[in-house]
Amino acid sequence: MRPAQALIDLAALRHNYQLAQRLGGGRALAVIKANAYGHGAVVCAEALPEADGFAVACIEEALELRAAGIRQPILLLEGFFAADELALIDQHQLWCVVHSAWQVQAIERAQLQRPLTVWLKLDSGMHRVGVAVDELQPLYQRLLASGQVAKVVLMSHFARADELECPRTLEQQKAFLNASAGLKAEISLANSPAILGWPQVHNDWVRAGIMLYGASPFAGQHAQAEQLKPVMSLSSQIIAVRELPAGEPLGYAGRFITARPTRVGVVAMGYADGYPRHAPDGTPVAVDGQRTRLIGRVSMDMLTVDLTDLPKAGLGSAVELWGQQVLASEVAAQAQSIPYQLFCNVRRVPLRYQH
Ligand SMILES: *Cc1c(COP(=O)(O)O)cnc(C)c1O
Repeated sequence: MRPAQALIDLAALRHNYQLAQRLGGGRALAVIKANAYGHGAVVCAEALPEADGFAVACIEEALELRAAGIRQPILLLEGFFAADELALIDQHQLWCVVHSAWQVQAIERAQLQRPLTVWLKLDSGMHRVGVAVDELQPLYQRLLASGQVAKVVLMSHFARADELECPRTLEQQKAFLNASAGLKAEISLANSPAILGWPQVHNDWVRAGIMLYGASPFAGQHAQAEQLKPVMSLSSQIIAVRELPAGEPLGYAGRFITARPTRVGVVAMGYADGYPRHAPDGTPVAVDGQRTRLIGRVSMDMLTVDLTDLPKAGLGSAVELWGQQVLASEVAAQAQSIPYQLFCNVRRVPLRYQH
C-alpha cells in the first residue's frame, strides 16, 4: 500500500481542548466544522467526552455527529440557510446561530416541539455576518417574547485577534459591550487567538478551533501557544533515490537546478494529498527525524527532497511533511498559506488514529 498517511493523536487533541477550557475559564465549544479541520469530525468528537459542546458550520455536519451518537450540544455556526431546517434543528436539539432578522421571523413562525437555544450574533466590526449594533436589543427582545426560545447566548467574532498589537480586538469588544448593555445573557466572543492571547475577552463560552489541532494562530512565538501539541502528523516514505551531478534540473519546469552533486529522495506525497503545490524550494521536511528541505516543484503524487547531507537516509526512510518535527505552521508560512487551509485540504491519504 502507498505509505502516505495522516496520523491523528487523540491524546494531543484532548490536551489542547483542556488547555482551551482552562485558559477560557468558562465553558468551551470544540469547533469541529469542515470534518474537524480535516482531522475527522466523528472520531474527534468521540475523543472529547468532556467537551461542553461542539460547533459545526451547517446542519449536514451536525446530523453526521448525531447519527454517530454524539449527544452533547452542537451549535450551527452559520445558523439555518432556509426556514425548513428548523424542523430538524428542533428534532435533533441543535443550537443555532441567528445572524439576520429574517431568521428571527422564521423562528417566530415555526412549529416547534421544544423551545430552541439561540446564539444571537452581533456584527461588532468584522462586517461579514451578524446583526447590526442597533438591531441587537430589539431582536433579542423579539426572540424572548416569541415563546419559541429557551435561552439566548450573545456572541460575536473577531477579525484580527491573531494580531496581538492590533487595537481592533478591544474595539470590537467595546462595540459588543455597548450594544449588549443591560442584557442578562451568557456571552461568547473568543476564538483560538483570543483564547490564547486576549484573556480580557474570554466570558462564559470560548470557541476553540485551530488550537484544538495544535497549531498556533500567531505568526510569531507565543508563550501560551507553546503549550499546544500537534495533533496531525502527515507522513510518507522515500520511494526512490537519484544521484544527480551539479547543474541538473529537477522535476516539472526544472524549477530547482542542483548547485552541487545532489542525492534526491522521491516522496510519495503530492498536491492531490493536500500538500501545498506552492511550497517553494527550502520548505522544511523531516526524513528519519532529521530536518532537510523540499527541492523541485511539488507534483500531484510525489515530491522531492534533498538527501545529500543525510547519507543514512534512503529507500523506505520515514518522511514527515508536518507534525512534531516540522510544524504545519512552518510549511504554511513557506507556502503563503495558513495551517487551517493545509489541514482542511488533506485528502486521499488515510486518516489513522492513535488513542
Ligand atoms: C471557525 C470559527 C471559530 C474557530 O476559529 P479558530 O480561529 O479556528 O479558533 C470560532 N467562531 C466562529 C464563529 C467560527 O466560524
